[in-house]
Amino acid sequence: MTTGEYYNSEETLSRDALEALQTQRLKETVSRCMRSPFYKERFRENGISPEDIKSLDDLKKIPFTTKQDLRDTYPFGMASVPLKDCVRLHSSSGTTGNPTVILHSAKDLSEWANAVARCLWMVGCRPDDVFQNTSGYGMFTGGLGFQYGAEKLGMLTVPAAAGNTLRQIKFFTDFGTTVVHAIPSYASRIYEVMRDKGIDPRRDTKLRILAIGAEPHSEDTRRRIEDMLGVKAYNSFGMSEMCGPGVAFECPEQNGMHIWEDYYIVEIIDPVTLEPVPDGQVGELVLTTINREAMPLLRYRTRDLTRIIPGECPCGRSHRRIDRIKGRSDDMIILRGVNIFPIQVEQILMQFSELASDYLITLDTEGGNDAMTVEVELSGNHFDDYTALQRLEKEITRMLRDEILVTPRVRLLPKGALPQSEGKAVRVRDNRKQYQ
Ligand code: AMP
Ligand code: ZN
Repeated sequence: MTTGEYYNSEETLSRDALEALQTQRLKETVSRCMRSPFYKERFRENGISPEDIKSLDDLKKIPFTTKQDLRDTYPFGMASVPLKDCVRLHSSSGTTGNPTVILHSAKDLSEWANAVARCLWMVGCRPDDVFQNTSGYGMFTGGLGFQYGAEKLGMLTVPAAAGNTLRQIKFFTDFGTTVVHAIPSYASRIYEVMRDKGIDPRRDTKLRILAIGAEPHSEDTRRRIEDMLGVKAYNSFGMSEMCGPGVAFECPEQNGMHIWEDYYIVEIIDPVTLEPVPDGQVGELVLTTINREAMPLLRYRTRDLTRIIPGECPCGRSHRRIDRIKGRSDDMIILRGVNIFPIQVEQILMQFSELASDYLITLDTEGGNDAMTVEVELSGNHFDDYTALQRLEKEITRMLRDEILVTPRVRLLPKGALPQSEGKAVRVRDNRKQYQ
């Protein structure tokens, strides 16, 4: 059992040792990939052989793998082991196109659980904690992924699954839940229901740690959730293609997420030129799995936009940190030629204490032009004072215009007016003709 500050000794390897480990694992991964019909053909087409990959630098000889490749090879065309050696698959429907499948061997699942346990240990979870997971179990990897990681660490786990907020809250109080995993929009929802029921998280629960992730959220949203629930909230990043949760996670410094470089080789590229960008500059995250048996992925284009945070982390872990996700390249709104990410709107909205956490951006065509409407719920009842409301609307509009360079229409709504989504929050609705 782990007792020290770090869960695995790999967390503090010197950069040289870490890179040596990566090189060895990369070579093993590439030779394993030759058993995958997809990669065998890819290598052949591009005139490369596994022997050409001798160093981390050689990685760039390998073409990128895309989500489309996963769709084209659906369901099992990328497997590097026979199906009899696989023990689970996760399938993601995504919002568009064919589903994708990721296969896992028993070793893959054990390594995944280790990665999640390492993340949770890093933020102070210990076997005497009670861990409650509010993620859906099933194909969504936030369910089983956190479940096995938390069990591996040795916590008492409460697999509450998604929804039924009153029951979640009852479990918090009855079971003495100390650690919760939730997507940010649901964490806010939990608080609102608690408040409506007169439950004070600080007085009536033992909550202390929250893992929040799976959807983009701003620093202000995190601080707001921390204040509401009286917890420390840590950003958790992952995706089904890389297992699920456990890819990158914040340490107690809360300044970027350590991305586990003994599991992944990290590249940040310019999504247009596909060339690497310097550390510190935002680009698309590209990941190569180097610790996976059943279905390794080489240079997978995640579409997530982030940057490497330059410099060492005071926590002593040598694995580099990525910044909170700015958005997905496919989430970017192009409005009258201006590029906008929903998170930029959120960053502004969350600065207003009068506003709750739910918002929706709607894009329409009006008189041949793009128009943006931002609807946001008020946190309390501010409808009595019409002048104050108008002033607030004006101020929000002004701040949004300064940030995104277009003037949106702002509509303030009473609490609960926006539709609640079951899973990840829907932040953008694009009704413009050319985007349908
Ligand atoms: P899924 O495979 O359905 O779990 O979705 C994975 C995607 O969710 C990632 O590619 C990101 O776009 C998004 N995501 C996951 N974790 C985070 C996070 N902590 N912050 C922002 N976006 C996230
Ligand atoms: Zn750190």
